[in-house]
This record gives sequence, C-alpha cells and structure tokens, in this order.
Amino acid sequence: MNRLVVVSNRVADPRKTASGGLAVALGQALEASGGLWFGWSGRIDEPGTPGEGDLHLQTAGKVQLATVDLSREDHDSYYLGYSNGVLWPVFHYRLDLADFDAGYIGGYRRVNQMFARKLAGLLKPDDVIWVHDYHLIPLAAELRAMGCKQRMGFFLHIPLPPPLILAAVPQHEWLMRSLFAYDLVGFQSNADVAHFSRYVGTETPAIVLGEHEFRAFGKTLRARAFPIGIDVDEFAQLTHAKDGQDMYAQMRDEYSRRRLLIGVDRLDYSKGLPQRLKALRQLLEKYPENLGSATLIQIASPSRESVDAYATLRQELESKSGAINGNFGELDWMPVRYIHRTVARKKLPGLYRVARVALVTPLRDGMNLVAKEFIVAQDPADPGVLVLSRFAGAAEQLKEALLVNPYDTDGTAEAIQRALQMPLDERQQRHQALLQRVRDEDVHWWRQQFLDALAATEAETH
Ligand code: UDP
Repeated sequence: MNRLVVVSNRVADPRKTASGGLAVALGQALEASGGLWFGWSGRIDEPGTPGEGDLHLQTAGKVQLATVDLSREDHDSYYLGYSNGVLWPVFHYRLDLADFDAGYIGGYRRVNQMFARKLAGLLKPDDVIWVHDYHLIPLAAELRAMGCKQRMGFFLHIPLPPPLILAAVPQHEWLMRSLFAYDLVGFQSNADVAHFSRYVGTETPAIVLGEHEFRAFGKTLRARAFPIGIDVDEFAQLTHAKDGQDMYAQMRDEYSRRRLLIGVDRLDYSKGLPQRLKALRQLLEKYPENLGSATLIQIASPSRESVDAYATLRQELESKSGAINGNFGELDWMPVRYIHRTVARKKLPGLYRVARVALVTPLRDGMNLVAKEFIVAQDPADPGVLVLSRFAGAAEQLKEALLVNPYDTDGTAEAIQRALQMPLDERQQRHQALLQRVRDEDVHWWRQQFLDALAATEAETH
C-alpha cells in the first residue's frame, strides 16, 4: 500500500474525536498506510523572528504530523487576506465582500511555495498526496516545479462559482491552470463540477475529453463530485453518550411547552442568518398560532472576528434578534435565543434531537454538515424536520428535506410552517430516506471514493 500524505491548512490530531469526522476519517486512512499529515501549526512567529518557520514533527499513533509556523506577514496575507478575504467570498458568490488587495497574492504564493519546499523533503517516490481546500490550490504546481512526480489529488471543500464570478479574481487563470498539476480534482457537488467544466471550456485552451476528463497544458485531469459525509457511527454514539443525553433531557424539560427550531452555524455571511431571522419574523406574523410557542435557538459560533464583514454581520444579528424579541416576546416567551458562542460537539446531538425543525438555510455552502448531523441525531420514531437551502451542496443528496430558497422570505416561512405542522408518518418517511442516504454516503465512503478514483488515474510523466 502506498503511503498517504494529507496536506491541509490546519492539522488535527486524528485521535481526538473533538476534531470532527473529517479528522477521524482521514486519520483512519493515514493510520492504515502509516501516513503523514502536513500543514500549518496554527502558530505565528512574531516580527523579528529570523528565517523560515521550523518544521515540527510529532507522532500520533502510526501517523506522523508535520507542521510549520507562519510569519505574521504571511499569516495576514495568505490566510486572512487571500484565502479568507478573496477566495472565500468569491467562491461563495460574494464579490461585494471580496477585498482584492494586490498585496495578498504574494503571501499566498509564498506560503504555498514554503509548504512545497518543506513537504518535498519528507516525500517518498511512491507516496499518494491528497491536498485539501482553497488555501492550497497551487501546492501541486509548486511541488511539480520541484520535480515531485507523485500522484496528487485535490479536494475543494467550498463551492466553485460559475466562470464569470470566478473570473473576477485577478489571478483566476493562474489558479485554475495550477489545478492541472493534480491528477484528480474533487468537488462537493455536481453543480460545482458543471462550473469547472464550463470554466475550462470557455476560459482555457483545454479540450473536454469526457464528462469528467480534461486535457490542457500537457496534462490530463479528472474532475468529479465527491460529496463529503459525516462519521455516522461516531455521531450516533455521541447522541447516546452522557453529554448528548443530558443536554436532550435538560432542553426537553425546559422547552416542554414550546416547539423548538434550531440553527447551528459558524457566524458567517454565507450562512444566510439575517434572511433566516426575516423568515422567522414572517412566520410569526403570518401564522400567529406560533406566538408563545415557536422558539428558535440560533447558535452562531464565533469565526474570523478580525475580518470586518464578520463584525458587521454580528451587529446585524444582534439587532435583528433583539427587534424580533422586542416585537413579539412575552414575559414568559421569547421567540429567538441567539447565542454567539461555540457549543461543544458532544452536546450538539442533544440539541438537534430535541428540536422539531432544523433551519439550515445558507445562501451558499460547499456541503453543510450540520444538516447531516441533525438527521443522525433524530429519534426515528418521532423525528424532526429538516428545512434545507437548495443552495447548500447537501441539497443534491438530501432531496427529502423541505428545500427552500433562503432569499424568498415568504417561501421559507411557509416551509417552516409546513415543517411544524407535518404529520408523524410523513416525518418518519422523510427521515428514513434521509438517514439511509447519510449513512450510505458517510465520510468513510467519501474518502474511499476519492482515494480509489485517485489510484485509478493513470500514472503520467509530469
Ligand atoms: N459546530 C460545533 N459547535 C458549534 C457550531 C458548529 O461543533 O457551536 C460544528 C458542527 O457540528 C459541524 C461543523 O462545526 O460539524 C460545521 O460544519 P458545516 O459544514 O456545517 O459548516 P462550516 O463551518 O464548515 O462552514
């Protein structure tokens, strides 16, 4: 078996379940091959620190973890600037929020080159390299320039926008060309693959060889959708473990007279939180039977607080939820519980299970794992209903959810009302179908599909 090398911006210790399903799944593949996980340590060297960050090596079971520090300047331009200030908003279709500061690209290239230099020294000739996400798009091109001939795959965890949106990134040609240094590129959804195919067809000299095969720059590339899943067994275990059960019992008692709606998101403009609050307001106005009863618990986990767009969003949410509570609240009932804090993963299943409805209504999302976790945490005998944005990658798989357009306030409010009114047998049928799909296409399936497809790419001379 070839050794697997995973490269991602952040490295997680795969033995800690708090790291989440992705770390567990990748950890298992790494364990099996005695692999290496390479990325940023999360540490920043302050100015005045000489030279390039040191390489830190640790072992976690059979897995080797290799991390490097970043200088303050590189962190600010590569991570905050180009990755999160340019690529994140543009890839989520938010050109209005992108900060096209010409200085950022230098840091992005520099860090990718530094990663490649540090990693190249650790590679063996028959390693299989799997690079993750938008921070590291040009990594394979940098490795190839150093003579690395290993098989390389890339998975984009966020959406890929249509060509004309992507073309707003000043370096789009360079970015997309550098994808051709990989043997396989994976996307979350068929919509993303279609955008890639259209981009390649219109903006590059590539020949589209087949639905999933492209030839350009002297290289054949395969590109396909591999929708990421969750670790269903791990999440089911969390649901039945003490913290999950305690949370469930506590919330059930506290909200026994209410009907709970739940939202769990990072506080991010892609998640459609203001639109969700607008739909809740509409629900209370249009269907007054929900007054005194429907209660939305919205967890908004703090994220990227140093970026301006996030601070503005935070203020907007505080003011919108305060206004709804002010307009509709009673002495003994408030329609919104807005919580700007991270809830520990092990408590989430209890919260999901007690909810009658989950609101997963992003304006754009690569996949959305909360939708899948909600399904796994339900009691199959009395399951809650998933209201899901059609613009989440998960919507391609989770057809039995109530799919909504989050920009359509009336339509979303109607869907929430329908979810609250849904008879038990319909809830059960929908949940059963959804659970089956989430179970069949879990994170282990995703990993295996990707690695099998990568192994099947023809060995080429690069
Ligand atoms: N999450 C958590 N605590 C919180 C909020 C979120 O543990 O307070 C977890 C959640 O269970 C899920 C992940 O963070 O596993 C969010 O993944 P998702 O794909 O939904 O969105 P992302 O944050 O990656 O955009």
